[in-house]
Amino acid sequence: MDMNELIKRSRRFAKPFRITDGAGFRLKAIDPGDTLGYGSEDKPRAKEALAIGIDALAELQDMLYAQDRWAVLLVFQAMDAAGKDGTIKHVMSGVNPQGCQVYSFKAPSAEDLDHDFLWRCMKYVPERGRIGIFNRSYYEETLVVRVHPEFIAQQKLPAELVTKDIWKERFQDIRSYERYLTRNGVVIRKFFLHVSKQEQKKRFLERLEDPEKNWKFSANDIKERAFWNDYMKAYEDTIRETATKAAPWYVVPADNKWFTRAVVAAAIIDALADLDLSYPKVDKARLKDLAAAKQVLLGGKE
Ligand code: ATP
Ligand code: MG
Repeated sequence: MDMNELIKRSRRFAKPFRITDGAGFRLKAIDPGDTLGYGSEDKPRAKEALAIGIDALAELQDMLYAQDRWAVLLVFQAMDAAGKDGTIKHVMSGVNPQGCQVYSFKAPSAEDLDHDFLWRCMKYVPERGRIGIFNRSYYEETLVVRVHPEFIAQQKLPAELVTKDIWKERFQDIRSYERYLTRNGVVIRKFFLHVSKQEQKKRFLERLEDPEKNWKFSANDIKERAFWNDYMKAYEDTIRETATKAAPWYVVPADNKWFTRAVVAAAIIDALADLDLSYPKVDKARLKDLAAAKQVLLGGKE
């Protein structure tokens, strides 16, 4: 399949899940089990398509790196066991590790808490020419922190700044920050891997039953599950407030891993294709240098 056709298909495939205007967004609009009508009998074909997508991604990333102008920031958010890690691993498996940085944000450290909430993320914004992945991000500030307002107390904010408007203000700040990055050549795409509560239970049970998966299980994950509805409200509100044309959210059905990965790969291809990437042009003087170098190598003048 040629690159243009692949880009066209990727764009079409990811589009139903892309939110570019949060106003009126309802989480209910996206079913975690959706596969766009593809059944499990299509799985082998989906895997093949993903492999083609991964090759294309590698090619686009190579140009991004050579051109050294744009940076791409991919933000991943999800409930536990929705498949963030596996998706990142599979979708990025073909890209040159030199052009890609992954950073996982855990609960903030004492040093993090001594700073404003964006500080720890700013340090890891990808360089030009690179793809940066945030496995969790500053969005935790309107998700886990909103579900557990007691975390606000740990942030050592001056009391008069913690008002009922704090979430509205955080959304404003995030929107401004993303606009700032966008205006500086950092392309942002945000992914919410939307798993159902039922599927999460199934995956937790697998983690408990399969010795090779035991390590993935954390007792805290069960505690968070009890706040499911609060999290869903926080996700819905976050997407409503921060989905923009420049920095869209993708709400990706996550009950079927093969489908999740295909949508994410397609969305990244779409984002890179939008940049109209090409290898830097070599000017005449440089072409002469290259010809001279070839002469040296072939002409036995070494
Ligand atoms: P993951 O759950 O992403 O697969 P993990 O299980 O290896 O990773 P955890 O120790 O569970 O890592 O770290 C992630 C936890 O940190 C999550 O529960 C997340 O909500 C929490 N966290 C991340 N950022 C913040 C924040 N700014 N404030 C409070 N908690 C946060
Ligand atoms: Mg965890």
